[in-house]
Amino acid sequence: MTRKYVYYFGSTRTDGDRTMKELLGGKGANLAEMTRINMPVPPGFTITTETCDEFYKAGSVWPEGLEDQVKEGIATLEQELGKKFGDPVNPLLVSVRSGAAVSMPGMMDTVLNLGINEKTLKAVAEKSGNERFAWDSYRRFMQMFGDVVMNIPHHDFEHALQNIKDKKGVKLDTQLSVEDLKELAEVYRGIYRKAIGEDFPEDPWVQLSHAVNAVFSSWNNSRAIRYRELNEIKGLIGTAVNVQAMVFGNMGEDSGTGVCFTRDPATGKNVFYGEYLMNAQGEDVVAGIRTPQPIATLDEKDSDSYKKLLKLRHDLESHYHDMQDIEFTIEEGRLYILQTRTGKRTVFGALNMAVDMHEEGLISKEEAVMRVPAQSFNQLFAPVLGADSKSAARFVTKALNASPGGACGKAVFTAEAAEEWAERGESVILCRLETSPEDIGGMAAAAGILTARGGMTSHAAVVARGMGVPCVSGAGELHVDSDAKMLKCGDITIKEGDVIAIDGFTGEVFAGEVSVKPSEIVQVLRGEMKAEESVLYSKYQKLVSWADEIRKLDIRTNADSPRDTEMAVLFGAQGIGLCRTEHMFFEGDRIVPFRKLILVADTVKRLREKIETGTENLAELEAELSEPLATYNEALAELLPLQRGDFAGIFKVLDGRPCNIRLLDPPLHEFLPQDQQGQKEMAEEMGVKAEEIALKVEALHEFNPMMGHRGCRLGLTYPEVADMQVRAIMEAAIEVADQGITALPEIMIPLIGSVKELEIARNRAQKVIDTVLEEKGRASDYISYSIGTMIEIPRAAVTADLVAAQADFFSFGTNDLTQMGCGFSRDDSGKFLDDYVRMGVYERDPFASLDVEGVGRLVETAVRLGRKTKPGLKLGVCGEHGGDPASIRFFNAVGLNYVSCSPYRVPVARLAAAQAVLEHK
Ligand code: PEP
Ligand code: MG
Repeated sequence: MTRKYVYYFGSTRTDGDRTMKELLGGKGANLAEMTRINMPVPPGFTITTETCDEFYKAGSVWPEGLEDQVKEGIATLEQELGKKFGDPVNPLLVSVRSGAAVSMPGMMDTVLNLGINEKTLKAVAEKSGNERFAWDSYRRFMQMFGDVVMNIPHHDFEHALQNIKDKKGVKLDTQLSVEDLKELAEVYRGIYRKAIGEDFPEDPWVQLSHAVNAVFSSWNNSRAIRYRELNEIKGLIGTAVNVQAMVFGNMGEDSGTGVCFTRDPATGKNVFYGEYLMNAQGEDVVAGIRTPQPIATLDEKDSDSYKKLLKLRHDLESHYHDMQDIEFTIEEGRLYILQTRTGKRTVFGALNMAVDMHEEGLISKEEAVMRVPAQSFNQLFAPVLGADSKSAARFVTKALNASPGGACGKAVFTAEAAEEWAERGESVILCRLETSPEDIGGMAAAAGILTARGGMTSHAAVVARGMGVPCVSGAGELHVDSDAKMLKCGDITIKEGDVIAIDGFTGEVFAGEVSVKPSEIVQVLRGEMKAEESVLYSKYQKLVSWADEIRKLDIRTNADSPRDTEMAVLFGAQGIGLCRTEHMFFEGDRIVPFRKLILVADTVKRLREKIETGTENLAELEAELSEPLATYNEALAELLPLQRGDFAGIFKVLDGRPCNIRLLDPPLHEFLPQDQQGQKEMAEEMGVKAEEIALKVEALHEFNPMMGHRGCRLGLTYPEVADMQVRAIMEAAIEVADQGITALPEIMIPLIGSVKELEIARNRAQKVIDTVLEEKGRASDYISYSIGTMIEIPRAAVTADLVAAQADFFSFGTNDLTQMGCGFSRDDSGKFLDDYVRMGVYERDPFASLDVEGVGRLVETAVRLGRKTKPGLKLGVCGEHGGDPASIRFFNAVGLNYVSCSPYRVPVARLAAAQAVLEHK
């Protein structure tokens, strides 16, 4: 039996439903669903995504049986509507649209009015009583078919249209007469013949098969591919094709078309939101060429349709339990719904709607938590324009607040310039008359987007919202001239490179520098704004508290200063998962004693070894040792109180939360200046010769420092440094405990490969701990501490049963584990990893999102082996992956106790950890 390629929807029968998105695409599945619930949807049929896949696999030919099924679909449509495809008396006209399982706005091609030709247009003219409308539909179809289906350059047609307007002395398309349109159709026919070498196809069946092929082919055009890349859309087999009976929004002033959202997609407010144009077709609204009217004004023009729309708004939300994006057409006063889909929204919108919908009883708490994308959750913390700075700035104009966030940067006028400037590290605002899908790279690179044309559903607005880039659109007062690289607004001129600012919350545009401030959430958390003054904060607070009820993983932070720790705690961190102590050595003047120590460390070690082996000239050796040893001890003595102060500060902020502190990890050369000037300055500061420093740098040079003298290897070879750190940790813990604050230090030994390394380091640390407690006269349980290790080397992961015997906890250092597990240098692999992702070798950059298949298996192995030895072993992750939602899903599944990430990702991790639980159910 041949496969079912075609799914019909209409009053005769409806084959599909909303659950069939993979097969029918989002649009097709929803058209079927809406037909099922008796919405006023024009009938039609959907050719499945599997057909697209087969089409490609067979070398761009239709699979056996498709033609018959399409014919059957058209025949059913004909019967239902009492019209006939190609019939000169009562012709059936259709639209042909793409629609994949995931919506890709504006990325793929659409053909309207298909079935129109010189014969059928006469009937269209007669039936509508509007000959001009019939000819206009015909010339639009010729243009769309030529451009979209046959790839004839768009401007060839636009040029011809402009010529005829100039010739007739008119400005608008609507001012062209029937005779003008006939003349234009003749010119179009010529353009077609010249480009294709054939006459324009009058046979509707030929038109249909070409159009279906074009939609299939548009799946792999460069815009669509780029869109999927940017949005990480993977695993789809192709697009569906929707063939649907046409209804006309351009039949006169009682017809129109629009796009609306059941709630505001930018802010999430529970208001009916949208825009429309009378006497227009759908493409006119989304293309951003005419600025449409706000939906509320439809009430004055066609109150009946407006009331019906309001009812549909309510019915669709109750049915789908989510915000809907609806396309509608009014044909001579009769309302039709052409599409409904779950509306795209900003993360601000998502948050507001999720919380409101739960409180309205529309969705559960769990659904609310699932509704907010963890991946873009940190956009909530995106900056806003400072209010004071705004009032002092030069106001340019106010337009639509198309995508929230404040941005200030240098004006550029082409997408290419935006990419180039951004690459150089400049913050840029991309200013365009309107954006098109070709601009997508520049839009992604820009800090903000400003367009003169287009409404809230224009390309710029939809794409910017999707990307989380602030955008102001439809700024009609602006004259943007991309050739001259400038824009004008009244007497204000802004040239390329001039600084401007946009406010995507209000739609305001400013000339000159405007300060960019932290988000309201951050201001409330820091006590700079009252919680009750910020709706955003209150919604955020509710959502994360629901997430906290659901999640199993604890969320910690990677922080090494009291300031970062404070922010992380405000964001909800339950402790520190990684305090990188080396960062402390870089602060202020601290680098000086540490460099002093590095300069002599090797000499001290060498001489000590000689003395220990006790061979010759003991007295001479001891004399030789005394000066470097004094310097060494002096440096350690200088560092000790500094580190102790750091730890005490952090323990106080943590106030009883655990604190995982890693002993020194990076190779020593990282602490010395590599350039001549730096070495000269260091030499002056230390009172030594510059050559001495250069020699030390050379001696410390390693071919492969990431696999060199670092991590616990430093602690084993220069144990006094580790001793000093352990002492500082314990002294600080005692100091704050004496003040009544609980300190819970977890001492972490990095880069273990063999359990022996851990055993030696642990024993040494234990001795220091015992000594400090004894010196201070405190009981052995005065401080609740633990000693554990990082799992960063594959050898440690696969011998985790042995390692666990010496560890109170494991923390997965997935940065190094990825480096050594995949064999990719952390510092160099950027050169080829993008290509690898493009080629599908890795699904995502394995340093950003855990390579579950490989590195994940190492983690899983270590979890299993570690807990075999110690069933209650505490397990966490502190690599970059700790803040990545996809990786968090994996860490939740393998049963880690916590993830740790940078302070600003803590809220993301809280949400992602809850979503991981819900998805795992
Ligand atoms: C790691 O390797 O994952 C880790 C957290 O340590 P670092 O990034 O400091 O090497
Ligand atoms: Mg590491």
